[in-house]
Amino acid sequence: MAVKIRNLVRKKHEKWMRRGPIDRFGSGQDIETWELDNSKGKILRSYSMYVDTGKQVDLFSLKSAKSKDFTASVKNIRCIRQKLFKGRKARSFNCPICDTLIKDIDYRVIIYGAQYRQCSSCGHVFVVNRPSRGAINNFYARNISYHLSYTDKSISRNRIEQIAVPKAKWVIEQFKKQYGKAPRSILDIGAGAGHFVYACRNLGLKAEGVELNDSARVFSRDNLGVDLRSCDITRNWKEFRGYDVVTFWGVIEHVTEPNALLKSARQILGDKNALVVCEVPHWNCMSTVIQTAFPDVVVRHLDPLGHINCFTETSLISAYEYTGFAPVAAWYYGMDHYEMITQLLYKLKDDRVASLLAATMNQFQYIYDRGRLSDTLIFCGRPV
Ligand SMILES: [Zn+2]
Repeated sequence: MAVKIRNLVRKKHEKWMRRGPIDRFGSGQDIETWELDNSKGKILRSYSMYVDTGKQVDLFSLKSAKSKDFTASVKNIRCIRQKLFKGRKARSFNCPICDTLIKDIDYRVIIYGAQYRQCSSCGHVFVVNRPSRGAINNFYARNISYHLSYTDKSISRNRIEQIAVPKAKWVIEQFKKQYGKAPRSILDIGAGAGHFVYACRNLGLKAEGVELNDSARVFSRDNLGVDLRSCDITRNWKEFRGYDVVTFWGVIEHVTEPNALLKSARQILGDKNALVVCEVPHWNCMSTVIQTAFPDVVVRHLDPLGHINCFTETSLISAYEYTGFAPVAAWYYGMDHYEMITQLLYKLKDDRVASLLAATMNQFQYIYDRGRLSDTLIFCGRPV
């Protein structure tokens, strides 16, 4: 739909509202209208959104279900994060999405010394006492263990089939819904071990990826035959002009300036028929509730080194609008039930918990997804 954006700075009394079906136990696909209401019933702007919920996945074929593995992982992650965050003073109290100044009352949770606070304007949640941008970039470029779970050969095939292929098909589907034809090319920024680029190529698309981590690029080249580029996209965006789609799978939550990455995507795509896709951690979810209750047992979601940003729908809409995109589709799915199982594994030290609950994984998770309370949110937007 054509959207006329006059004044994108949302005022305090203006709220994003969602119009959709009351009965949410349906097929998993809805069309909703997301509209900005001025609190006096006047709609300032609106977006028609294709909303998908749920994704079948056998998580324990991708991750260990053993208490001792999870306990070791908690110990390792806790140790690294505490060294980085404990006693570290805040670097910035300004929201990285809308630049609102954060106050003391906006504090939400402390995890391993990292303080998550929430913007009172756009609802964005972020770590205020994060390490410097250079230290974060250095960590991702050099820390091999960070990418181990993505580059393990035995689970690589499963990741392609269960994660990368469904995502690629979803993106193609969204492009068809917007433009009536499939995209020809996709650029994946923060491509990890190259699984998504590989999946796109197998589906007949021209696909390329950019990745800063050395070991991930080596894995991609040696195991998938996919050569990934290493460069700063915010400086080198001109080299990538002409793509139909730019994707960021689990990327913009890692950086100090998420809007800068989206702006680069906007520059790459120009004004043509195109899409940008971001997968981000979603604040309003069950995993947030669980991890806020057990902040000393966090290895994913609110891991403050992995995720210095955690998005709400409003903060992601804001990021899209500020960088020249109109949201057109969303996909809710997550690992909230898995999160609960791993907490039980950690507390009870009994592996039977996982085998007992593994069979119910998709059934339980589907309820969180349908209720839009999943820990992962994918957004798709078109240039305006
Ligand atoms: Zn904000």
